[in-house]
Amino acid sequence: MKLGLIFSALFGVSLCLETYVGHQVLRIKPKNEEEIKKLQHLETMGHLELDFWKNPTAPSFPADVRIPAKRVPLVKAFLESHGFEYSVLIKDLQVVLDKEKQDMAQSLQKDRSTATFNYGTYHSLDSIYAELDHLASAFNNIVRKIQIGESYEKRPLFVLKFSTGGRKRPAIWLDAGIHSREWVTQASAMWIAKQIASEYGNDPSTTSLLNKMDIFLLPVANPDGYVFTHTTNRMWRKTRSRNKGSLCVGVDPNRNWDAGFGGPGASNNPCSDSYRGPRANSEVEVKSIVDFIRNHGNIQAFLTLHSYSQLLMYPYGYKCTQAADYDELVRHSDVVSAPLFCPASFPLSNIAERYQAELYDPHQQPATRGNKNLVQCNAFEREILVISKHVASPPILSPLCSSMFPSLSFNHRIIE
Ligand SMILES: [Zn+2]
Repeated sequence: MKLGLIFSALFGVSLCLETYVGHQVLRIKPKNEEEIKKLQHLETMGHLELDFWKNPTAPSFPADVRIPAKRVPLVKAFLESHGFEYSVLIKDLQVVLDKEKQDMAQSLQKDRSTATFNYGTYHSLDSIYAELDHLASAFNNIVRKIQIGESYEKRPLFVLKFSTGGRKRPAIWLDAGIHSREWVTQASAMWIAKQIASEYGNDPSTTSLLNKMDIFLLPVANPDGYVFTHTTNRMWRKTRSRNKGSLCVGVDPNRNWDAGFGGPGASNNPCSDSYRGPRANSEVEVKSIVDFIRNHGNIQAFLTLHSYSQLLMYPYGYKCTQAADYDELVRHSDVVSAPLFCPASFPLSNIAERYQAELYDPHQQPATRGNKNLVQCNAFEREILVISKHVASPPILSPLCSSMFPSLSFNHRIIE
């Protein structure tokens, strides 16, 4: 009887999960502006249900797009008839997702026997939140867990504060997972947390940083979406708020900031994955971050992690003019970004392999990601490099990239 219940529970979960059988991810290389325009036009055709993982931006920069199974023949025919160069990155997305699930289940089983948090795999929200408690107690000299608000579905938004004392010291903000499906970012944030905590007192650069500044780290900025990616739809990216007058759920929280709101790169269609929301800061998750940063008043750097694209972006994503501290950002960009890059032709076997630390490059296509407007990203040289060191070394990424790119060791080559 008991066994029957377990089976039906498992079966129930798998029945609810949206499948991506036959969905393909194509990499399309536009040769010129005209081809870019054609791709951008495709993107606007809602009935095709295309999901651009990497947008068409410039000639010879590839665009990656997920295409539902039923649309694959049509889209391929379009590309071929217009002379596009493309290749199939993922032949069947569901195969990749099944493999990911299997890997997670195996790790979970192993973790149970050792009772430790495995930083090399993905975790449920509960497990991440439990590890925040563990970090706060294991490193109680410098780590504290604070709640900065709660999500639409009333889940707490937890931030780890790393501090050696003082009041409202200059601080660095780092968040991850505002797009819930970008699982490698939540996982990387947890790894970064562990590294910062355990290196204080052992690593001179981390120690010196924390003796002057605080770090605030929000590992799961969109917890409702994150839970939904585990229970129902692995590709969910938005919040889970209800939209008045629409059956479609959720807002793209990274299009909801009060900066360049509603500009290019954001949609006013509640059914779009880039829906900006009814007004700026309408999403409680976004508003909670904004309120926290404003109340603090001394945040010196604002970093946010996204996956896919391998871009280092700096302010401001929604327009093409340079930030005031552009020169400083450019000076750092080589050092910070080098370890993030796998070869461009890196074969995709897992959607979470790609990794992006966004600092918002004005040369990038406007993306209406204006959260950097809250605070100029003018981190001090050493501080930003210390952060980048941690960003660069999550174990979940290193086996993937270092095997392909052994000359770029992930082990702290960038600042020492
Ligand atoms: Zn993202």
